[in-house]
Amino acid sequence: MVSDMTSDLDNVNVTSSMFASKEPKPVQPLFPENNEEMTGEINTEVDIVVVGGGPVGLWTAVQIKIRRPTTRIIVFEKYEEYRRSHVVIFEPSSFEEAAEHQLLQKLKSDIIQDKKMRTNDLENVLVSLANELGIPILKPVNISNPLQLRQQFPNAKVLIGADGARSIIRDTFFKNEFRYQDNLQYLVEIKYEAEGPTKQYANTVGGYKTMKVMEVLVTEVVGRYKEEENKTPVTLRLVVKKELYDKCTDATFKNPYRMPQDNERVDPELLQKIRIWLNAKKLFSNEKVIEESIKITATKLDAYASKAFVAGDGVTTVVLVGDAAFGVPFFRSMNNGLLSGTRLSLEVVAYLNNDTSPSEMRLSDSVIGSVPPQFANYARYVKRLSKTERVVASVKSSGLDVANWYTDTSAKVPWQVAKWNEDEINALYSGELAQEEYEYKSSLKKMSSTMSDSFTTSWSSNKKKLK
Ligand SMILES: Cc1cc2nc3c(=O)[nH]c(=O)nc-3n(C[C@H](O)[C@H](O)[C@H](O)COP(=O)(O)OP(=O)(O)OC[C@H]3O[C@@H](n4cnc5c(N)ncnc54)[C@H](O)[C@@H]3O)c2cc1C
Repeated sequence: MVSDMTSDLDNVNVTSSMFASKEPKPVQPLFPENNEEMTGEINTEVDIVVVGGGPVGLWTAVQIKIRRPTTRIIVFEKYEEYRRSHVVIFEPSSFEEAAEHQLLQKLKSDIIQDKKMRTNDLENVLVSLANELGIPILKPVNISNPLQLRQQFPNAKVLIGADGARSIIRDTFFKNEFRYQDNLQYLVEIKYEAEGPTKQYANTVGGYKTMKVMEVLVTEVVGRYKEEENKTPVTLRLVVKKELYDKCTDATFKNPYRMPQDNERVDPELLQKIRIWLNAKKLFSNEKVIEESIKITATKLDAYASKAFVAGDGVTTVVLVGDAAFGVPFFRSMNNGLLSGTRLSLEVVAYLNNDTSPSEMRLSDSVIGSVPPQFANYARYVKRLSKTERVVASVKSSGLDVANWYTDTSAKVPWQVAKWNEDEINALYSGELAQEEYEYKSSLKKMSSTMSDSFTTSWSSNKKKLK
C-alpha cells in the first residue's frame, strides 16, 4: 500500500465489500449523492476514518483502539515521512487521562522526565504503536476531496479531521469559519550552527544591553553541543513589529533566506539587527557562527479556533481535532491536541458502545447539524478549552508587549544604567573593526593585570625585605 509518491484516494485499491448503507435522516447531507464511484483495494469495512497521520491523528486513533480494540480505524497521511522535527515542550498533565499501554508508559515517563521531545520522535513511537495495534496508516495518500470518503467508506460512522492548521476537512465541512483568529505576535526566527560549544546570551546583562541597541526582544534556544561534529545548534527569535514582518513574509520554512547569499533580499533594518546580535555574541561571548548555516524565516504567532468542531447529518459525524480544530502559540498546541484527542477517544468509545449519555442535547454553536450527544459533549469540551487557551495566549502575548516596550523605552531614557558605551555600540554595528578593538582592549586588560600582578609580587617581596 505504501508507495514513493503521494497518491489520491482515487488510486487507492479496495478489496472487501462495503457496508450496507443506512437511510439518512432528513438533515442537510454532508456528502452530495453524486460523487464518482471509487475503485481500489483497501478494506472499506471501517468504523472510523482519520484524515491526517500527524501526532494528534495517531494519538487519537491509538487511544480509541486501546480503549475499544474491536474498533476498525483507518488513517490517511499525505506524506511518507512526517515532515516536522521541532522540539515540543510537553506538560505531564496532557497525559493524565490517557489510556494505559506498555509503549505509552515508556513515552509518558520519557516526557515526564525530559518535558520535551522532537515531534518526529513522538510520531515514530505512535506509528509503531499504531502498527502493533493493527491500525492501518495509508501513506502517502492526499485526501484532496473528502466528500469522496462517503463513497469509499459508506459505513464509517465517524470521520476525524486531524489534518493540521490548513485542514481540508475544516474547509470542506465547516466552510473554514472561525470562532476567533488573532494575530498575536510577529517573529523572525534565525537558525544557525556555532562552531564548538556556545552558551545562552539573551539572559545576560550583555544580551539585555544588546537588545536595547537592536530595539527588539530576543529569545534564544541553545541546543546540545554535538561533539562528533563540533557544532552547537542555536535558534534566535526576534519579536518584531508587524511592519518589519510584512517586509519578509517570503522567508518561509520551506524557502528561508540564507546568509550571506540572500543578503540582498533581507530588509536592511532586519539584517542590521541580526548582525548586531551576532557581532555581540562574537565579541562578548566568543561565539563562532558558521555563516553558511544561517537560515531566516518570518512567522506569525496566531491564535485561532474553528467556529464549530463537530458536524453531522445523522449518518456520519465529522469531528475536528488538534491543529485542525484550534491552535494557540507559546508551547500549548500539541498539549491541547493530545488533551482533545484523549477526550474524543472517550466520547467515540461511548458512542460506539451505545453508552447512553446522561447529558441532554443542548443547542450549541460549536455543532453543525444532527450529531450524537457524545460528540456534542466533545464540542463543548473543545469550545471551553479553546476559550481558556485564547485568554492564556493573550496574557502571555501582552507580557511580551510589555517586555518589548520596556526594552524600547529604557533604551531611550538618559538615565539608563545598563547600556553599552559609544565605542562598544560602534563595535556592535561593525563586527570586523570591533574585533580589532576588542582584541586591543583585551590585550590592554591582560597587560594591566600582568602589571598589577608583578606590582603585587614585588610589593609583597619588598614588604618582606623591609620587615
Ligand atoms: C516550531 C514549532 C514549535 C512548536 N512547539 C510546541 C511546543 O513546545 N508545545 C506544543 O504544545 N506545541 C508546539 N508546537 C505546535 C505543535 O507542533 C502542533 O500543535 C502539532 O504538531 C499539531 O499536531 P497535529 O497532528 O494536529 O497537526 P500536524 O502536525 O500538522 O499533522 C497533520 C498531519 O495531517 C497530514 N495531512 C494534512 N492534510 C492532509 C490531507 N489532505 N490528506 C492526508 N493527510 C493530510 C499532514 O501531512 C500531517 O502529517 C510547535 C509548532 C512549531 C511549528
